[in-house]
Amino acid sequence: MGCVRYRMPMSEQAISIKNLSKKYAGGKQALNDVSFDVAQGSIFGLLGPNGAGKSTLINILAGMVMKSSGSASIWGFDIDANPRNAKASIGIVPQEIMFDPFFTPKEALELQAGLYGVPKSKRRTMELLKAVRLEDKADAYARTLSGGMKRRLLVAKAMVHAPPVIVLDEPTAGVDIELRQQLWDYVLELNKQGVTVVLTTHYLEEAEQLCDRIAIINHGQLIANKPTRELVGMAREKAVVLTLDRDVTVAPTHDAFEKSELVNERTIEITYNKDRMNAGEVLTTIQGLGLGILDVTTKEADLEDVFLRLTSSA
Ligand code: ADP
Ligand code: MG
Repeated sequence: MGCVRYRMPMSEQAISIKNLSKKYAGGKQALNDVSFDVAQGSIFGLLGPNGAGKSTLINILAGMVMKSSGSASIWGFDIDANPRNAKASIGIVPQEIMFDPFFTPKEALELQAGLYGVPKSKRRTMELLKAVRLEDKADAYARTLSGGMKRRLLVAKAMVHAPPVIVLDEPTAGVDIELRQQLWDYVLELNKQGVTVVLTTHYLEEAEQLCDRIAIINHGQLIANKPTRELVGMAREKAVVLTLDRDVTVAPTHDAFEKSELVNERTIEITYNKDRMNAGEVLTTIQGLGLGILDVTTKEADLEDVFLRLTSSA
């Protein structure tokens, strides 16, 4: 993307969201008092299952959905008080692919540049098409592009006005692995040039690979907002359920266990960190406490478990 220079921001934060709520006309509370900041220069993941409220939040930032209450600012510009500057500071790659099938990629970018008031001398149409590897499709009809190409064109479209912040809403849904990788290479390249990146996804692994920080949203509520390493550590937990050879009244504990719980008098569930021990070591530890084991089942902690744990401890 060449030497894009970003205006000095009026805020330390690329995005700042405070007590944001949204109730749709039909009565659905899609966002409930959500607050978080996105630091400049970071890659921030907004993670949550389908229906969590991710697109609602993004669309409020994009000025496409009206919030019910709360506030948001982009690059220091409040979306109510300074909507033009806020809008100019962000590029949105929407979840849904929508194109006029009769525009070519080149025309689509020129049109977008026009909408954003980018003067002809400052347009970077071919440079952008090249960056998303669509230069040889510059004059093809959009309807002849593959799904992955359309997705890349949307990314180029979002960057037409050289915003300091780009938001990608579920950019890899339905995109194959190779294209996914290309998309991420490009996004990482933008980030290296100083662009702050926000991406929403319902794949923990994807967020884990790319993001410095991950926020989790569930039923419209923010339930976590942590550096990636910390959050992923919580998903590194595994559990074994053990049937013992005798009744116990308290679950046996050990320093190496994350948690030990009584399921019933003969059954215990032990949670451990799989980076620190394995199931065999858990069993040996229990046997070392003088208990016999009749049966073992293992459970892998997944994002659902992390959600559940975070919601229950909130
Ligand atoms: P996500 O992007 O995390 O999948 P959404 O923000 O799209 O979640 O949706 C959050 C909730 O709001 C869902 O229950 C969804 O059905 C509802 N919703 C989304 N858009 C609208 C709308 N335009 N009108 C009414 N309800 C909506
Ligand atoms: Mg969505």
